[in-house]
Amino acid sequence: MNSYNKLRPRVDIEKCTCKSVSSLILVDLLTDNPIHCFNCKNEIDPAILTLQKPLVDEIASWFRSYQALYALWLDSGEYESYARAKLFDKHGQVNIEGIRIAKQLSQYYPSYYWWFFDVDDDEPSQCPNCNNKLDHKVKHGIGKCDACHILV
Ligand SMILES: [Zn+2]
Ligand SMILES: [Zn+2]
Repeated sequence: MNSYNKLRPRVDIEKCTCKSVSSLILVDLLTDNPIHCFNCKNEIDPAILTLQKPLVDEIASWFRSYQALYALWLDSGEYESYARAKLFDKHGQVNIEGIRIAKQLSQYYPSYYWWFFDVDDDEPSQCPNCNNKLDHKVKHGIGKCDACHILV
């Protein structure tokens, strides 16, 4: 992204163009919408999914907190280690809420909450929430846990 665009509203939305939506990922890919297609990883507008508005509000609220932590981690400044610890904490608010929302979204489409992963760390083989072995049959990410609705 060029420097000027960093201070402009985002217009380059990569929309999902799959014929039908099978599953969803809840993930911060530095865009304005955390609802992405499990298949192509591009964004899906919440109106297309006909989600109930209270759920959309909850997603927006969770996403604001997640974005804030993620931005602090990316910034690599004074708050980096604080943000990293919170993003990894399975008892932390963003993760508890992320899992809860992925479960609610799954009433519409099977959904996964993309758990924070730092590429400098070893790839996890276990679910960060329940410690069961991850299912590596995924197109994006390292593995998933169906019981916890988590994708890493
Ligand atoms: Zn798609
Ligand atoms: Zn799990």
